[in-house]
Amino acid sequence: MDSTVGAPQGVIPARLLHGQKALVTGANSGIGKATAIGLGRAGADVVVNYVAGREAAEEVAAEIASFGVRSAAYEADVSQEDQVVAMMDRMVREFGTIDILVANAGLQRDASVTEMTLAQWQKVIDVNLTGQFLCAREAAKEFRRRGVVPDVSRSAGKIICMSSVHQIIPWAGHVNYASSKGGVQMMMQTLAQELAPEKIRVNAVAPGAIKTPINRAAWETPEAQKDLLRLIPYDRVGDPDDIAHAVVALASDLMDYVVGTTLYVDGGMTLFPGFATGG
Ligand code: NAD
Repeated sequence: MDSTVGAPQGVIPARLLHGQKALVTGANSGIGKATAIGLGRAGADVVVNYVAGREAAEEVAAEIASFGVRSAAYEADVSQEDQVVAMMDRMVREFGTIDILVANAGLQRDASVTEMTLAQWQKVIDVNLTGQFLCAREAAKEFRRRGVVPDVSRSAGKIICMSSVHQIIPWAGHVNYASSKGGVQMMMQTLAQELAPEKIRVNAVAPGAIKTPINRAAWETPEAQKDLLRLIPYDRVGDPDDIAHAVVALASDLMDYVVGTTLYVDGGMTLFPGFATGG
């Protein structure tokens, strides 16, 4: 089987998210970039958040604008409360409101537990968990203020948390990262429970192994890729568009009754393939 063929192209309906305003954090690279572009293809206006790499962020915004929607690149560190508040204020000022938040920004600082510094632990929790909390809180305030606009969407707003299969699969050597994603799962479910009565839908997407800069070592060489494929029943490494497609669908009214769910987009990684022939 050819495991190099990635996500299908050209499958996003052009007006699915017409008139909606989306913010994607960490959108100048990898999954965030593909997701921002996917939302733009679906007709949403998109704010491309970045913390470093302005040029790359502006290129993403320019590509999105070429679809005939609005886009702009905003700098903000999602782990800094004042910067997140300022980013959301600016979006409301310049784009009018927000309908879709994709809390995607994330990073790894890997070390075995006895080698892991407090700074490595804290940085990952600050960005991956606290960053998502801050963005979700600010988006929820605007969703609540504005309420449902029936011509735009059946819900008052959508929050999509970028989690990981490591919200349920323990990961030796990555205790900070796995803990942050475990936290994202419970944060997402709790926010979903709290906000659903206000017609705000909170869900998560949990990618498996996707080819991006964050995990280059895991797919860069043929040997590494072979090892990785042992963990993926569907026999291909994912690409960022696989995740973008899931986010676009989840953000749309096609999924209006989906509340508090994690959509695993992992080629079956969470099926515990090690048990296929044993156990
Ligand atoms: P990536 O490194 O390409 O992208 C991460 C983005 O987050 C970058 O744009 C980076 O600049 C940004 N970022 C980091 N710290 C930030 C901060 N403080 N403020 C704002 N932005 C910040 O990696 P990716 O694979 O595209 O990762 C995106 C998300 O997907 C992460 O949450 C990651 O945990 C998750 N994820 C990725 C995989 C995978 O296999 N690639 C698997 C599961 C989950």
